[in-house]
Amino acid sequence: MTTREEMVALIRERGVRDAAVLNAMLQVPRDRFVLPAYRHSAYGDFPLPLGHGQTISQPYIVALMTAALELARGDRVLEVGTGSGYQAAILAEMGMKVYTIERVEALFEIAKFNLKTLGYKRVTIRLGDGREGWPKHAPYQGIIATAAPTKIPQALIDQLDEGGRLVIPIGPQGGYQTLWKVIKIGDDIREIDLGGVAFVPLV
Ligand code: SAH
Repeated sequence: MTTREEMVALIRERGVRDAAVLNAMLQVPRDRFVLPAYRHSAYGDFPLPLGHGQTISQPYIVALMTAALELARGDRVLEVGTGSGYQAAILAEMGMKVYTIERVEALFEIAKFNLKTLGYKRVTIRLGDGREGWPKHAPYQGIIATAAPTKIPQALIDQLDEGGRLVIPIGPQGGYQTLWKVIKIGDDIREIDLGGVAFVPLV
């Protein structure tokens, strides 16, 4: 059985060195966000099923995406695809103000329960379609999508702060996608390829 400390050591070996990210991953109990049947393997470096055809992302990918957001304590972050609430908990643990949207009601309820019982009060969660973002709390210094659309939703770019970062997998549904870091610079964007990934589709 892999421990939380071993999981974080592996993530560091694989190249994510951001201390705030690694520390948050040492603090957040991933075993509380996975289905009870998978609790024994909660700290292995692989995605796990959440039910409803969805998955909690692989820990290394959570770390990579979180580090790519380049956030500072107190920043506002929007997450599209709450799932279990684990990624939101990592961001909250790092001191961010987190807004997160989930479209599957059962997962929304589970995430709300998980975050509440673990005391993550800096997370605001909503049931809805994340492709439209959440204009009410914009602009965001960071936006993270944990489900993959075929192209970047314009609303997410619009809701980024000047210099803000969007980390999002883009590609065909049911296949592999490319993970992009998109930086908003004035009316322009700069895109950085972070490598190949496999996410559930943003629908
Ligand atoms: N970040 C999650 C993993 C998410 S899996 C975690 O830490 O556990 C991707 C999630 O995106 C799924 O729960 C799926 O239901 C959700 N999703 C897919 N399309 C969506 C949309 N248009 N708006 C909001 N959520 C969506």
